Amino acid sequence: MQQVRSRLASAYLALAGLILAGFLVVPDGSLAQTIWQVACGWLGAGAIVVGVRRHRPAAPAAWWLVAVGVAGNASGIGVEAILTRTMADPGFPSWADAAYLSLYPFAAAGMFLLLRRRSPLRNWSTVVDAGTLTTGLGLLAWIFMVKPAASDPDIGLLGHVVSVAYPVGDIVLLAMTVRLLLDGAAHNTSFRLLGTALIAFLAGDTAWVVVNQFALLPGPMAHKLLADVYLAGFLAFGATALHPDVRTIARPAPPRPVRPSRRMLAVLASTSLVGPALLLAEALTGEVADAVAIALGCAALFLLVVTRMSQLLTQLDVQSQKVRELAVTDDLTGLANRRAWNAEVPRAVERARRAGTPLAVALVDLDHFKRFNDSYGHPAGDRLLKEAAAAWQHHLRASDLLARYGGEEFVVLLPDASADEAGRVLDRMREATPLGQTFSAGIAMLADGEGSDELVARADAALYAAKRAGRDRVALAAGRAG
Ligand code: GH3
Ligand code: MG
Ligand code: MG
Repeated sequence: MQQVRSRLASAYLALAGLILAGFLVVPDGSLAQTIWQVACGWLGAGAIVVGVRRHRPAAPAAWWLVAVGVAGNASGIGVEAILTRTMADPGFPSWADAAYLSLYPFAAAGMFLLLRRRSPLRNWSTVVDAGTLTTGLGLLAWIFMVKPAASDPDIGLLGHVVSVAYPVGDIVLLAMTVRLLLDGAAHNTSFRLLGTALIAFLAGDTAWVVVNQFALLPGPMAHKLLADVYLAGFLAFGATALHPDVRTIARPAPPRPVRPSRRMLAVLASTSLVGPALLLAEALTGEVADAVAIALGCAALFLLVVTRMSQLLTQLDVQSQKVRELAVTDDLTGLANRRAWNAEVPRAVERARRAGTPLAVALVDLDHFKRFNDSYGHPAGDRLLKEAAAAWQHHLRASDLLARYGGEEFVVLLPDASADEAGRVLDRMREATPLGQTFSAGIAMLADGEGSDELVARADAALYAAKRAGRDRVALAAGRAG
């Protein structure tokens, strides 16, 4: 079935290629040329309808909206042809403009629905990146498209509104396109076709801006090629929905790291130079005519760049916090690890000495744990270590520290606990050990002038005494030798 559907898309693409090539040989200004163009748009819209019915993609409304926009835009070519054939001067704006412009709201609404599906978890870093690109390119569009459109003195208020609507529509569509390209969700064939369609329209409009800006006079063939770009856009929209990949194009993006790629950084850096470059260009070629627009554009770009930086710094803080935590945490049990223990014991010794309070250190070693592993398997041994750690922790105060010393050995630091109190805590821990397992422990009390290494060594000696005495017991270390 997939094969058949794919084949339909391939056949459509082949047909699209023929149509685009054929358009170049249809006589200029003929009725056939108009019909060719309108039919192209309707074919694209029709392909969307067929694709949505066949593939049943998520967010079908997105595709219906795009289909309406494409059909509307293509119909504008027909309306314009009828008006110019039936009226001496159809004027500007005309109903053809209404049809042309319909592409923008419908396609933008469709893209919006699609974007919402593709990035349901609002990814602020992508929003800022897209904002930066759109602001930079929008500044260019403002100066070269919106301002000239608004300044024609002969077109009246409605004329101004309509001529400004085109570039504004382009900027909105551009923002959607950039957002779509950056959202990190599926980059399948349908996605690439959709990108092609959007970029075709934006490229066509940009080409016309360049033509007007430099007062170029494109020949008939260049004219046709330019018109063909829009036809390619129509057909690519159709192909997007006709391809089976449309079923997964709305799949949500996985959570992404906030770090931009080097290429993205280069793109963002160039975009933020658009403002200064425009200023320089205007300053060198005469007077600075767009100071306000450029200043506002630069300000917006600076703020966006700083926002992005602050996002990265926040991310860095979160990450380094995580690294710090990982460095002192035992993976299996979530207890403090030996590194954390080694850092903490000398501090506890120092505190106890200064306060003149007792300090107990206990070394805990599970009895015959090798046997447990041999009988129940290593994973069961891991589970026991984890559960024992949790159960023991339950019997400790917040000021106590339980750490995994390594393997099946644990250490306990009990500040301000006498030898009796420490013995009682260890007995309660022994009783709490799960699955009938036992441990042996050695307790040492901090002695005058003793360092932390010596203290732990005495606890270790007591532990071995407990083992030798038959296990499943707690031994108190003898006083400090010498
Ligand atoms: P003893 O009573 O003398 O302490 O006997 P034991 O078997 O507990 O001591 P031994 O030092 O001979 O063996 C320790 C065992 O602990 C061997 C090893 O497989 C097991 N062990 C150490 N770390 C882990 C671990 O992370 N997970 C599991 N499942 N087992 C571990
Ligand atoms: Mg051991
Ligand atoms: Mg052991």
